[in-house]
Amino acid sequence: MLAPPGYKDEIPAILERLRNKQTIEHLETHRQAKDGSLLQLSVTISPIFDSDGRVIAASAIARDIGERIKTEETLRKTEKLAAAGRLAATIAHEINNPLAAITNLLYLARKNPSLDGKAKRYLDLAQEELGRVAHIARQSLGFYRDTSIPGTVEISAALDEIVALYGRRIDSKGIHLETEYGPGLAIHAFPGEIRQLLSNLLVNAIDACGSGGQLRIRATSRNDWNHNRRSGVRITIADNGCGIPKPHLARLFEPFFTTKEDVGTGLGLWVSKGIVQRHGGSIRARSSTRAGESGTVFSLFLSGVVPNSPVQRIA
Ligand code: ADP
Ligand code: MG
Repeated sequence: MLAPPGYKDEIPAILERLRNKQTIEHLETHRQAKDGSLLQLSVTISPIFDSDGRVIAASAIARDIGERIKTEETLRKTEKLAAAGRLAATIAHEINNPLAAITNLLYLARKNPSLDGKAKRYLDLAQEELGRVAHIARQSLGFYRDTSIPGTVEISAALDEIVALYGRRIDSKGIHLETEYGPGLAIHAFPGEIRQLLSNLLVNAIDACGSGGQLRIRATSRNDWNHNRRSGVRITIADNGCGIPKPHLARLFEPFFTTKEDVGTGLGLWVSKGIVQRHGGSIRARSSTRAGESGTVFSLFLSGVVPNSPVQRIA
């Protein structure tokens, strides 16, 4: 009964070693407590001999190392976070410098008097698109440092903007998009962060959808489901894509957790959660992978209670 499923083979192996007069030292393993819960233990077992040198018993010392392992795990996660911050800061820096150079060069080229009207218009368009590249780079890096002060953000306008930004991607995958929101959903927020949050969720939903998939974005004025007295905006982004298997659900908001080999950063949801928390809100996901009815719904609540000065986010 001591050994939980998966560890049953350990006991005969331990007994075998004891019979051979060997000691088991600091074996890190799991055992089952009386109430059925799992304990993480470090076990040391030594044979006890009679006067003739025969093994007649064994002494076992087990230390509960659950706390230690939990601490180690937290530390590892913290280190991951720090690494994520450093990585993002480096990439943002590397990308922003050439982008700034190109922007300046375009500006100079547009000033050149030898350009005819058509060439000028092309350069104007190029500049506009470049602005978008810079914006997307910041967003997908996920470490958009919003230095603006918080202001009134109209959620329906922000949603329209994001939908337009990814419209081509939605169309080219043949995804059907339904939106249910109207004006009058204003909150106090950092506008750049809200756009980033919404695009992270939308992009994930688009990624999850196969061709001919369906997306639904809704926003309503709501009370927080945890703190009923607070008012704010509730947004849900639903897709009928592949869904998220249960074991992954618990890890969604961890930095670097991704199932998208090569293309994923695993930072989108982690960053999104940070943004939601800074806006006095909450985020949760429900998902099903059952064939024929698979899909995912992300629900957000934003209260719009934000700190008044921008926070320094990159250490
Ligand atoms: P990335 O998109 O770079 O992988 P995210 O943090 O945005 O990182 O998402 C982490 C993981 O969560 C994804 O790799 C995917 O497995 C899962 N995921 C997120 N949103 C959805 C969704 N709408 N449907 C299915 N899986 C999702
Ligand atoms: Mg993502």
